[in-house]
Amino acid sequence: METEHGIPVGPGIAIGPAFLLEAEGVRIPRHYVSEDEIEGEISRLDEAISEAQDELEALAEHVSKKAGPKVAEIFSAHAAMLRDEYLCQEFRDRIRQKKYAAEFAVAHTMGQWRSAFQEDSFLASRAPDLDDLERRVLLHLLGARREELGTLKTDVILAAHDLRPSQIVTLDPDHVKGIVMDAGGPTGHTAIIASALGIPAVVGLGSVSARLTGGDTVIVDGEKGLVIIGPDEETIKTYRQRRDQAAKTEQTLLAEVRDLPAETKDGHRVDILANIESPREVARAIEHGAEGIGLYRTEFLYLTSESIPSEERHFDAYMEAIEKLDGRPITIRTVDLGGDKFGGVGSPEPERNPFLGRRSIRYCLEHPDLFRDQLRAILRASVHGNVRVMFPMVSGIEELLAVQLILKELQNEFQQAGRAFDHKMQVGMMVEVPSAAVYADALAQYVDFFSIGTNDLIQYTLAIDRTNEHVADMYQPLHPAVLRLLRMTIDAAHNAGIYVSLCGEMGSDIMYALLLLGLGIDELSVAPTWLVPEIKKIIRNVSYKTARDVADEILNMSEVNRAVARLAEVNRDLLPMLFR
Ligand code: PEP
Ligand code: MG
Repeated sequence: METEHGIPVGPGIAIGPAFLLEAEGVRIPRHYVSEDEIEGEISRLDEAISEAQDELEALAEHVSKKAGPKVAEIFSAHAAMLRDEYLCQEFRDRIRQKKYAAEFAVAHTMGQWRSAFQEDSFLASRAPDLDDLERRVLLHLLGARREELGTLKTDVILAAHDLRPSQIVTLDPDHVKGIVMDAGGPTGHTAIIASALGIPAVVGLGSVSARLTGGDTVIVDGEKGLVIIGPDEETIKTYRQRRDQAAKTEQTLLAEVRDLPAETKDGHRVDILANIESPREVARAIEHGAEGIGLYRTEFLYLTSESIPSEERHFDAYMEAIEKLDGRPITIRTVDLGGDKFGGVGSPEPERNPFLGRRSIRYCLEHPDLFRDQLRAILRASVHGNVRVMFPMVSGIEELLAVQLILKELQNEFQQAGRAFDHKMQVGMMVEVPSAAVYADALAQYVDFFSIGTNDLIQYTLAIDRTNEHVADMYQPLHPAVLRLLRMTIDAAHNAGIYVSLCGEMGSDIMYALLLLGLGIDELSVAPTWLVPEIKKIIRNVSYKTARDVADEILNMSEVNRAVARLAEVNRDLLPMLFR
């Protein structure tokens, strides 16, 4: 029995057999072989390489006839890479010297080449070629043993070095019972989606995927951030009991507050909404008492589609959500591609610093046709429900005016064509870049609401990549600079007479609910939805006056550690039923 410590990101506990996945969704059945299997592995590898080469050469010939020699060059270049003795020798060396199974030798070598490519400004744009090549060789190696994640028939614990948000969003939560990952930080989108799907997950584990073999029994403790490999019977029994007890407590709380508002003892109300990545999550949010959708991350339409989503595809997705919401509000965020959300259709080219690059509305302004399709779909949907729209990653007034101008032009177009749209649809912006928080007073004059994205606001304020496990412990929502930005944003909104929501993960951590209430937040949009009852319970059990005093006290502290300790103490005193 071996226990690994990581970052807890998905709720609850899962127990099951490991399913190892490598880059591009290919399963690696095992990592190591015995001494007498080595030569057999090398023959398997050589055979797979030769099959992949034949396939690439045939493809190059076919494409050359269909689309000309220029396009076919991609495949000839891939075939040439596989003829590179240096690369193939590295695969073989790993099998001979480290006793890696052939699949793992390929995945591991390609992973290292990929990192080297990504660090080189000249080669970075070729890194996706390595993904392609790796996938092709692996598929030949796996042959009939191939099992795809999308067609799982039994329950598994998914283990991987890293998973892209686009991979995780298509998982089948009926069979993927838990997730463990070597890489990743607490507010990376892989973590966010695991949590939204209600899958217990632990990330930032360092090298857990290399220590696991497919089929190993694993316990994922998504509350404490532990992964137990090969647990004994006693440990499995204890965890099963904990899992059942947690489910019972959740049900009791849900029955108690589900249909009640989040209103303090002295009558101050906060709206509690939910974050979603897909309309399929709406029903679950409502079942848990969410009063609407405060953030719909529409970029997932791109990350899960085979082709660029058309206006119609956007419209259908919005209508699906609107119908399920039955009059409750939905805040549709325009696409926020880039950062860690790439790899689907129409994604930005890989960049050296994707979080600081052509992400989000920068990307939309560079691709106005794509942006217009989405806005048209939103305008059309606006007459069917309580729709609001918001723009992500706004860093300045010029950008905000530029996107608003496009929206205005489309509204005029609709008007002239006599097409229906909601003339009073609220238009808001996310405050998630520090520059926007610092001059929120000016920006507030141009919008109907703010929504604070603490995931990015913290990332950009404290200069910590939200997907990087090595700086995950520097993610500090109670950092005095972050708290000042929150206060500035909330006060600026209220002074301008607009409301302010918060949809980053900070709002989904019950530890901060009292503080955010005291800072004057009007709406919280949270994920996972099972937290909605807990947050309602907290707000219903305190007075607004007390929460404001707590916020003032915490805001006056200059050290994070003291603020963390004090808030934990206050939470325990005021709400002993939730904080022990
Ligand atoms: C945020 O940045 O806090 C946010 C809610 O947006 P996303 O996590 O999609 O970047
Ligand atoms: Mg964001």
